[in-house]
Amino acid sequence: MRAGSFSEDSRGRWYFNVAVQVPAKPSLGTAAVGIDLGLKEAAVCSDGQRIEGRWYRAHEHKLATAQRARKKRRVKAIHARIANQRQDALHQLSTALVQRNAAIFVGDVASAQLVKTQTAKSTLDAGWAMFKTMLEYKSHQAGIVFEVVNEAYSTQTCSCCGAIPASSPKGRAGLRIREWSCSQCATVHDRDVNAARNILAAGHRRLAAGIPAL
Ligand SMILES: [Zn+2]
Repeated sequence: MRAGSFSEDSRGRWYFNVAVQVPAKPSLGTAAVGIDLGLKEAAVCSDGQRIEGRWYRAHEHKLATAQRARKKRRVKAIHARIANQRQDALHQLSTALVQRNAAIFVGDVASAQLVKTQTAKSTLDAGWAMFKTMLEYKSHQAGIVFEVVNEAYSTQTCSCCGAIPASSPKGRAGLRIREWSCSQCATVHDRDVNAARNILAAGHRRLAAGIPAL
């Protein structure tokens, strides 16, 4: 056991944090997954699983009421509860993904780019940066591959035929397109699942090209 440290949450509760060594549990998973963490409230996996990040939304009403009544302690308590729920949920989801897979690939969404957008609040609220960190260290502990891959064109490219067809979502106008059909091969895509599949394919290409040993 290493030396511990104290920390205080937004509710004014104190915690004593210690690092303990636990034996790493190797993953028995054999699948590979691509995850699109995008500028959205949901993270989407290449197998179609959606991970909703609406922890804040569920408490919005209670929070607004407490804020109007200027109940500072109550507001702090609600914020603390949201943070705890989010952390618990992200821990469960990241553990499940690591146990199921032998390789996990996520897109390299630049956080600087996120903060400039309107959706920054919900994106930060969803805690995808925390999720990415959890996936990374749990993957290393479990001895599976974790890679951040270049996600350029992951939304525009058809994950079925590899073309960037005229019909795929592009630019600002493309932001609203949730579902589209490829004008080259006629495959119908959910926007986010298609992006996650392209991230998975980019990850496979990267592994095939050989990654340097750490
Ligand atoms: Zn296609």
